[in-house]
Amino acid sequence: MPAVTDCLKSASIAFVTMEIALEPGMRCYSGGLGVLAGDYALAAADIGLPMVFVTLASREGYVRQGIDAQGHQIDVPDPWDLEKWAKPLDPVVRIVLEGRQVAVRAWVHELQGEGGARIPTLLLDTDLPENSAEDRKLTGRLYGGDERYRLLQEAVLGMATSHILKALGCTIATFHLNEGHAALLPVELVRKGASVDEARDRCVFTTHTPVAAGRDRFPLSLAERVLGPQTRGLLERLVPGEPELDMTLLALGMSRYSNAVSCRHAETAQEMYPGVTIHAVTNGVHLGRWTAPAMADVFDRDAPGWRTDPDCLRRIAGIEPEEVAKAHGKARTHLIGEVERLSGIALDPDAPILCYARRMTGYKRPALLFHDLERLLEIAERQPFSVLVAGKAHPKDDTGHAEIARIHQAARDSRGRLSVVFLPGYGLELAAKLVAGTDVWLNVPIPPLEASGTSGMKAAVNGVLNLSTRDGWWLEGYREGRNGWAIGQEGGDPDEHGPLLLEMLEKQVLPEWYEHRDRWHCMMRDAVATVGPRFSAIRPMHEYAAEAYRLPAG
Ligand SMILES: *Cc1c(COP(=O)(O)O)cnc(C)c1O
Repeated sequence: MPAVTDCLKSASIAFVTMEIALEPGMRCYSGGLGVLAGDYALAAADIGLPMVFVTLASREGYVRQGIDAQGHQIDVPDPWDLEKWAKPLDPVVRIVLEGRQVAVRAWVHELQGEGGARIPTLLLDTDLPENSAEDRKLTGRLYGGDERYRLLQEAVLGMATSHILKALGCTIATFHLNEGHAALLPVELVRKGASVDEARDRCVFTTHTPVAAGRDRFPLSLAERVLGPQTRGLLERLVPGEPELDMTLLALGMSRYSNAVSCRHAETAQEMYPGVTIHAVTNGVHLGRWTAPAMADVFDRDAPGWRTDPDCLRRIAGIEPEEVAKAHGKARTHLIGEVERLSGIALDPDAPILCYARRMTGYKRPALLFHDLERLLEIAERQPFSVLVAGKAHPKDDTGHAEIARIHQAARDSRGRLSVVFLPGYGLELAAKLVAGTDVWLNVPIPPLEASGTSGMKAAVNGVLNLSTRDGWWLEGYREGRNGWAIGQEGGDPDEHGPLLLEMLEKQVLPEWYEHRDRWHCMMRDAVATVGPRFSAIRPMHEYAAEAYRLPAG
């Protein structure tokens, strides 16, 4: 594979991530973090950055979502065919975990950008005959198992990455630690002889959430058992005074540059971690991947060059709104067909389709729309609409599981008066259909807990209007009265969001659809023209290149 070796050898930046979503069939991802990493790999290829992405093979996948008769999620493993998507590379490196040697090899998958540049992704795999049966499964189930299993996985990611890259002949100037999962990487650099300052000068770090459940912490006694007493001592020196191994603090302390994923999130993170400077690099999405074919045709015609220069999409502001509406209509018709095929339910094509699709977890408030079901049903009687819901709960997130059951209950209680359809198995494929074909994208996290959010960006570039609380990217993307709606005031009481949501639906969103469709079409067009240029994944990749990676502008 000469091409693989070439693009690997020229890589000077390694993006190290627990998960990445490159293809629907490669199920080494769970949700937003992995989808973002995949979008960044695609964007890096489009603008020709010298990068390699590194992740775990996760042969058992994350969770395949089943729903039982009572509307509860059943968690099933979701194995995938690594051999079909990646090629094995020769080098095998060995790391020491719990006092024994564990062999790790890498598989490589390659993608190609708009200009032909290639980006390799290495998938680390411990499923080798020389490892014990238990160790062969270390890179098996993404975010599965107990605390010990998680630390072992993060040790494989953090400790094997630099050795594998070296064995492959790569000279890496900068390791990008994507979330705290990769924080053992700089520790391994120090263990192999780098000074603390040298190791820090080779790492940059992105924190993705202010939510405690997203922050990995391990007891130091477990760290000692897994990594050895010497490494425990080193960890205590690197992050003094901490009673636990806190992967976020470790990564912050061992990186020359750290950032959060929106302006608002940077403020929140700066308060949480006052000792370090937290920069803001607002997330973006890969427009080519998320734009429906009919919409991409409009862009190709009216905003040529948009795939590598998203600024071109500003020109969409000058086209006829009906062009955008027509293209969106094709994706919408397709979605309605898919919903019927998947659920047997035929949505009313004349009524607007609201969609809530994201990870099912407490702070995102998946069931907020149904908080006063009778009132919601009354609104739907006078101004009909449909609701699509999708999203998985983490196997250990009880609140998330309860929300899924609540939504199914609301769907049953609404029958005959409002169509509420839960589509199981939220992933790349379902997300693409939903962001392209719905009419209103609902996002109701409790501020400031949604660090950025990205699905609303995907929706907006398809002409879908966001209806969102004031949090994350929407604080930067919202143009009042032009491209969607914002629920509540900044600093307002989150308990008021439920009633406010219903009021906005009744008095603003639905009347706009039923009485001012021409204005709705203008908003669709303006959503594309305002969100597309700024929230393409190419913009953050340029920012990372210049500010975090210190690459010369090119
Ligand atoms: C974009 C995306 C996400 C992240 O969306 P949020 O807005 O951050 O909730 C999660 N899962 C899939 C499959 C996606 O495509």
